[in-house]
Amino acid sequence: AQQKLQRIKTTKAVTVDGVAIDLLANIEVPDDVVAAKASGAVGVGLYRTEFLFMNRTEMPDEQEQFEAYKHVAEAMKGQPVTIRTLDIGADKQLNPDEVVTAINPALGLRAVRYCLAEPHIFHSQFRALLRASHYGQVKILIPMLSNLAELRQTKLLFARAKESLRQQGIPFDEQVPIGGMIEVPAAAINADAFAQELDFLSIGTNDLIQYTLAIDRADDAVAHLYNPLHPAVLRLIQMTIAAAAKYDKPVSVCGEMAGDIKLTRLLVGMGMRQLSMHPAHILSVKSQILQSEENVLAKQARKILSLNDLEKIDPLIKKLNGEVH
Ligand code: PEP
Ligand code: MG
Repeated sequence: AQQKLQRIKTTKAVTVDGVAIDLLANIEVPDDVVAAKASGAVGVGLYRTEFLFMNRTEMPDEQEQFEAYKHVAEAMKGQPVTIRTLDIGADKQLNPDEVVTAINPALGLRAVRYCLAEPHIFHSQFRALLRASHYGQVKILIPMLSNLAELRQTKLLFARAKESLRQQGIPFDEQVPIGGMIEVPAAAINADAFAQELDFLSIGTNDLIQYTLAIDRADDAVAHLYNPLHPAVLRLIQMTIAAAAKYDKPVSVCGEMAGDIKLTRLLVGMGMRQLSMHPAHILSVKSQILQSEENVLAKQARKILSLNDLEKIDPLIKKLNGEVH
């Protein structure tokens, strides 16, 4: 089966009725670009930069970050590289020896909240990202946004980082797009506002499910309740897709849902045109797309979205996946 899949490595991911889907890779360290390229991905949809900051006592400085980001940007040879700013806290701690004192780290000072509280970290990361943008097609992604004030503060710091580079005559891409993760229910419900103020959206379903269903994603005791097909989750995804369409902004899914072949047809039927996943899943997701007819999926997805009962959704998903076209 793996050999058969290899044959579609350079085939474009297009449905039977001609709808193209971009399949991108999630990476965690610069060397992952090798797997990303080998997978046939058309770019990096999520580079989780926190791995550069974890398991060490000193933060990486601007130069060290620049070199890592530049390596990825260059290696992808003009394909898009979406680099997420530091998403630290909760399940990703900086120093494993440090005792976590937050009562509930998942609801605490993590990701963009942390970076806004430590603006020097944001500043050096923005400078490193902007410098790397000179060497490839870099896009910047902000994690865990929950309100517009955070976004505006972030953009202000971003503008300051640009200005500091301009003053030093250091080259960067003036047009580098800035996108936001939709992974807090508040951001999905308010996706209209975020779609207006951002260049693109990316749905982090891992956290979106966690926060919508109040299920700790790392707690085995409640893992059976962690369900991407919960109607509330599907509706939040739908609202985000609709908001992005309204303002003509690209939207992707970069959580685990994107790489689950049981969910590919549903997501495409809901209007998703960009999926970013672990490189190992790219070919099987592509195979699923090559055997799908988008207009059939869209009809089925509408039906699934109209249901409030998970027990009725499950059989329809099975049916959707069982049909060849
Ligand atoms: C997500 O939350 O779906 C996501 C892609 O981010 P992470 O898994 O790194 O929190
Ligand atoms: Mg997340």
